[in-house]
Amino acid sequence: MSLSGLVIIGFVVASVFGLVSAIVASERGLSAMWYGYFGFFCGPIGLFAAVVAPYGVLPSPPRGWSREQCVRCGERQNAELDEAATYTCWRCGQHVKSSRMAVRTASVS
Ligand SMILES: [Zn+2]
Repeated sequence: MSLSGLVIIGFVVASVFGLVSAIVASERGLSAMWYGYFGFFCGPIGLFAAVVAPYGVLPSPPRGWSREQCVRCGERQNAELDEAATYTCWRCGQHVKSSRMAVRTASVS
């Protein structure tokens, strides 16, 4: 394989790691830009850092969404709740009932 082919493949792989690192960091309330660079230049190391870094401050959930913590994996996330006040965890895929709704239901009864 030619040198230019290897350079192109390397650039594509670096871009994928950068993009995935940025998305993971963004979901965890971290700087997408910095972890994107980190993933781009360091590949799996940058992605690993984005996964294990302590949570940053998540942006406030948009209207109609709720801040939730998954009961299975503990992932904190802004989730869009359906009519049954449930959502699917983006990380582990667990179908979770909103804790907020449970609190509200408990206070009513
Ligand atoms: Zn989960």
